[in-house]
Amino acid sequence: MINFSHVTKVYAGGWVALEDASFEVQRGEFVLLTGASGAGKSTILRLLYMDETPDSGDVALYFQGDLAYHSAERMSSARRQTLRRRLGIVFQDFKLLHDRTVYENVALALRVADVPEARIKHRVYEVLNLVKLGPQARRHPHELSGGEQQRVAIARAMANEPYIVLADEPTGNLDPASSHEILRIFQDIHAAGTAVLMATHDYPLIDALPYRRIVLEQGRIVADGVPEPLNEEPLFLA
Ligand code: ADP
Repeated sequence: MINFSHVTKVYAGGWVALEDASFEVQRGEFVLLTGASGAGKSTILRLLYMDETPDSGDVALYFQGDLAYHSAERMSSARRQTLRRRLGIVFQDFKLLHDRTVYENVALALRVADVPEARIKHRVYEVLNLVKLGPQARRHPHELSGGEQQRVAIARAMANEPYIVLADEPTGNLDPASSHEILRIFQDIHAAGTAVLMATHDYPLIDALPYRRIVLEQGRIVADGVPEPLNEEPLFLA
């Protein structure tokens, strides 16, 4: 579904944000992208949602086995917008429209995708129920907690049935209880068959998770795999 091959990204001023990064993500996987602040996590996500292009190497996306995007191809912004709708993107700061209701925030994602008006209401409530916010549909974002606002953002990301959810530090602004709730929702989404790629350095949150981790250090992938379970045997002290 995702193929990153020897990708290097250099920002203005010569800053190497990503160096020779290669990895693949298969359909239905749950992958954590970890590393300290500045390690290159957001850069990987921006390359995937086509907000950046690599300086060398290739980024490719496959939807249902077919090549949907290759970073070497030139693409119209309309085409890019269409492809982006099949990536459910979730940000640390939610990016909700504050002058719209919860319902409208989600409905807008469907309207811009030309979903028929008759289907929109049904789908909005479907995804709001997924994040347990159906009853809050008529509220505005400022009437919700941070965790609830992030749940609206996840509902919006799910509206167009994405092939993969890309989440960039989705719990970065939340307390531990709300963070666990958000993680739980991503786990539900994954269990229902959608791939999830979540960038995070919220180590207490992900500590015991048996998911694959791609670990970045200063723009380089230094580990990629499922962590070994901790040895549960008690320590006997003499
Ligand atoms: P992370 O998401 O792991 O915190 P980023 O991918 O945001 O890391 O950033 C990687 C490095 O690239 C950082 O050193 C950051 O300062 C730099 N960087 C990110 N975006 C830009 C940009 N638009 N211009 C210049 N440097 C950038």
